[in-house]
This record gives sequence, structure tokens and C-alpha cells, in this order.
Amino acid sequence: MTTPAPPPAGSAAAAPGPPGSPSGGSVTDRLVEANRRYAAGFRDPGMDARPVLRVAVVACMDARLDLHAALGLELGDCHTIRNAGGVVTDDAIRSLTISQRALGTRSVILIHHTGCGLENLTEDFRHELEDEVGQRPPWAVEAFRDVDQDVRQSMQRVRTSPFLPHRGDVRGFVFDVHTGLLREIDPDS
Ligand SMILES: [Zn+2]
Repeated sequence: MTTPAPPPAGSAAAAPGPPGSPSGGSVTDRLVEANRRYAAGFRDPGMDARPVLRVAVVACMDARLDLHAALGLELGDCHTIRNAGGVVTDDAIRSLTISQRALGTRSVILIHHTGCGLENLTEDFRHELEDEVGQRPPWAVEAFRDVDQDVRQSMQRVRTSPFLPHRGDVRGFVFDVHTGLLREIDPDS
């Protein structure tokens, strides 16, 4: 547990902060306010939950990767499954299994990227956590040195999962955060 944060001073509509900071309270307050504006202009497209393009994208959570813009996706087109690294973990397989078996997707696209935070970590991260908190996390850090090889490993995990009925259209890419371009990874090289 962390130390409890002090109660916020004043009301949620706090005075504007210094330049560059969210005005009027916390970043969450700012996002909730943005949602009110979004909802004011929102029209229910009347879609069901099945992605229109029948595709699931597994990608890194990196803040520089705007999946919808980078891939020309519209609302309702695809499932997006994101985590640190865009790694095909057991939990990503859980989401892909539901995506394919319950919600009709057929294709899988994997997107890792240049300059990923996981390239600077090692499995020592787990040991350091264990030393600090007294428990070893049950999950692997999934750190990597070679992003191409990490994409190949993720493709392989999708292609060998017994839970996924659709494993024939699985492609993997590295997104360049400086150019915005995808580079496809050959699964066999
Ligand atoms: Zn990343």
C-alpha cells in the first residue's frame, strides 16, 4: 500500500494550475470533463459488439501509438488489446479467445514499436520487486532486446494457442514512433 494522498484542497473546480498543467483539478477531472463534451456530440451508431472488420489488434500500451489513426480505423472496426510491450501473454490469449469465439474476429495483427520501455528492463525487475515487497510477481516481465524477435515470439504464441480457432491470418509489425510507419516482420526469418 502507498501512503494515502492528502485530501484535495478546495473543490474539484480548483483554480487553474501553472501553464501546461490541467486546469481545474486532477488529470482525471480533465478527462471526465472532456467526456462530457464528447457525449454532448455523440450519436449512437447502433452497432453491436462484433467488430466490423473482424480483426483484433494486439499492441503495446505506448502513448505514442495512436492505433486508430495509424491504421485508419473507425469506431467499431476492431478489438484492441493493449499491454506493456504488446506481448501475447496468457491474458492476451484470453481476450483473443473471447474475440474470436464470442465476437467473430478472424484476423490478428500484432504491433510492437521502436523505443519500447521494455527494452530497458530485464527479468531483474521481478527480483527487485520481490526484494522490495516480499512477493515475487507471478507474471514474467517479458523484457526483450530484439524487437523483431519479440514480434516473432508473439506471432508464434498466437499460432500455437489451442484456444484460438482462427490462426491462419496472423501478421506482426514494428511501428516506428518517429516516422509513423509500420514495418512487417517475417515470421520465418
Ligand atoms: Zn512499448
